[in-house]
Amino acid sequence: MRILVVEDDVNLNRQLSEALREAGYVVDQAFDGEEGHFLGDTEPYDAVILDIGLPEMDGITVVEKWRSTGKGMPVLMLTARDRWSDKVAGIDAGADDYVAKPFHMEEVLARVRALIRRAAGHSSSELICGPVRLDTKASKATVNGVAMKLTSHEFRLLSYLMHHMGEVVSRTELIEHMYDQDFDRDSNTIEVFVGRLRKKIGVDLIETVRGLGYRMQAPDNVR
Ligand code: CA
Repeated sequence: MRILVVEDDVNLNRQLSEALREAGYVVDQAFDGEEGHFLGDTEPYDAVILDIGLPEMDGITVVEKWRSTGKGMPVLMLTARDRWSDKVAGIDAGADDYVAKPFHMEEVLARVRALIRRAAGHSSSELICGPVRLDTKASKATVNGVAMKLTSHEFRLLSYLMHHMGEVVSRTELIEHMYDQDFDRDSNTIEVFVGRLRKKIGVDLIETVRGLGYRMQAPDNVR
């Protein structure tokens, strides 16, 4: 899962990005509204954390512009404390949720998890596919109740596939959601990761769809 953080406060941006990376996400950072708008416009994100007060272009305008061009990724707005009018303006402009500053990092992480889950159509924080359970809260996965030992790449891959169970996901899509913009991407590595993940799961839940990509079984199809 790939997140964009748009925040001009360098320290806060760093703290948010570090916390998100620690939670297993891949993160791109922008420090003004124009850069943030450009990235959100050109790169696919699973969620965006967007400060309202930004240089070059304010957060409200950024989200409005995305929505007017059909960009539908979940947006969590960071607002000033006690500015209820900012919250209303943010939601009206197309933001999905907000957190007032100063905030607890745990709250931001919980809201991001919920936004990503809901955007993928899941209401529970635990995603289940046959013997595999993904705890989005703890960033951990189990098979038949036994903890899976996953590298960060394998975890991101499993997480993306499980959020999109039953859907065909292309290699390009996987790469775009597993690596940040600066990463030297190689689509062959995806095959390697899928192979390792299959071995760790033990049962064949990830189907190769020839010429298209991969599909994690829909839960209803798994005994
Ligand atoms: Ca700011």
